[in-house]
Amino acid sequence: MHTTTKKLPVIFTGHGSPMNAIGTNRARTGWQKMGPALPRPRVIIAVSAHWATQGILVRDSATNPQINDMYGFPEALYRIHYEPAGAPAAAKRILDLVPGSAANNDWGIDHGVWSVLSNLFPAADIPVVMVSTDISAGPAAMFSLGQHLAPLRREGALIVASGNVVHNLREVGWGVENGYPWADTFDAAIRDAILAGDFQTPVQFTKLPGAAKAVPTPEHYYPLLAALGAATPSEKVTVWNEYRELGSMSMTSYLFTDQA
Ligand code: ZN
Repeated sequence: MHTTTKKLPVIFTGHGSPMNAIGTNRARTGWQKMGPALPRPRVIIAVSAHWATQGILVRDSATNPQINDMYGFPEALYRIHYEPAGAPAAAKRILDLVPGSAANNDWGIDHGVWSVLSNLFPAADIPVVMVSTDISAGPAAMFSLGQHLAPLRREGALIVASGNVVHNLREVGWGVENGYPWADTFDAAIRDAILAGDFQTPVQFTKLPGAAKAVPTPEHYYPLLAALGAATPSEKVTVWNEYRELGSMSMTSYLFTDQA
């Protein structure tokens, strides 16, 4: 990849239910609005909640087979086809930059990524490198992953980390339109810290009220930390798709934009 002076943004997005990919809903409306507002990247680095692994894995194949890792949804959802090319050279650069990372092609482009990208970049004509979420090494390691990915922002890479700040499937209330109070409180604490340029509070999220319920397992939360690691506190932060749904799911998303 070429080094350019322009530093591409970093995105963390909530993805929530696979059904957000289709039809009319708040998440999709936000993605469809955000896509055209973004600079066109040479490559997308997708940090995925659904590729939860021991250690950081990087897909370095030239292809990204679509993985429909969701079950029992309407037929219309399975008709979505989104298989952008891979980017072996960009993957190699990531493997060089991220200590301990390893090439692995056992996973493809899962619904947490394609539901988002099929709405941000519907033409599927920008190569994607899938990067896993390391659920074995703790939150600081995911923040560190982002720090190691940060130089790629000047090489034409858009980092898109996809997860959910609050994600508790056991507590889901079907038909609950917004969030439970503990979900609202946790989501707001993370938002307020990020807006204040405090990226360490999100890393140390277990100290926050409601953390045990909001983040019962790390895989959907940790992509946020990768995004924060790749961003800097002095950048412009745009909070978008800010809402909770089903009680225990936050869709709150962040865009970090270099103002230099
Ligand atoms: Zn998910």
